[in-house]
Formats: sequence, structure tokens, C-alpha cells
Amino acid sequence: MHEMSVALAVVDQVTEAATRAGDVTAVRSVRLQVGELAGVVPEALAFSFELACAGTLLEGAELVTEAVPGRARCTPCAHEWAVGMPPRLTCSGCGGTHTELLTGRELQIVDVHWEDGGPTHAPTREPISEEH
Ligand SMILES: [Zn+2]
Repeated sequence: MHEMSVALAVVDQVTEAATRAGDVTAVRSVRLQVGELAGVVPEALAFSFELACAGTLLEGAELVTEAVPGRARCTPCAHEWAVGMPPRLTCSGCGGTHTELLTGRELQIVDVHWEDGGPTHAPTREPISEEH
């Protein structure tokens, strides 16, 4: 499953960053940009992420996904459009197929919230969001 390898990669990356930071005791949330064309199903990713986090520093961390719509530009006529799903890569302006994908393949961590061992970093209590 593609989502599982993505989830494992995210856990790896965050664990590495937390280890580098030193005194991180728990990871609370990870924000991930997911392009429309990245081939990742957010629900499947959330499920895989939960499994991948078990027994790691990220156990119980929340995965927040930020969808990035796919946009393409026609090289000959510079027309730009949202590619949608399934992606439409033929220019509606000139009918050309020489297309450059501007956005939509993103798959990257944009933000991580963690707690460290410092006494001044008492975690703030935030309401738990129940939207799924
Ligand atoms: Zn065109």
C-alpha cells in the first residue's frame, strides 16, 4: 500500500528531526501537504499514519493533511488551468499536450508540533477536533 510507505517515511522524517532537536518527549501533530496528483488517499493515509506511529515518539500524534489542487500550464500558449481528477492535461486553449504541471505532486511535511522536556513548555490544552 502506497499510503503505508508514505506514512512510514513521514514518521521516519519526524523522528529524525525530533532526535536532532534533542529533548522532544512527544509529537502532537504533523501537517502534511498532499497534492491532488500525488496518488495518496487522505483517509488511507490517516489510517496508515496511526499504525506507523505506534510505538514511536509520534504515538497518538494527529496527522493534518492539506490538499494542494493540481494546476497545469500549456507551454506553447501559457494557458493555465486546474487539472482536476482524473487529471486533464490537454490544453483547452489550443488543444496542445505540451503541458507543465505547476502544482499537485506535493507530498511534504510543512509543520510539526512537539513537546520537549523543558519546564517552561507546559502543553496547552486544546479542544479535540472530532471532524473526520
Ligand atoms: Zn495551449
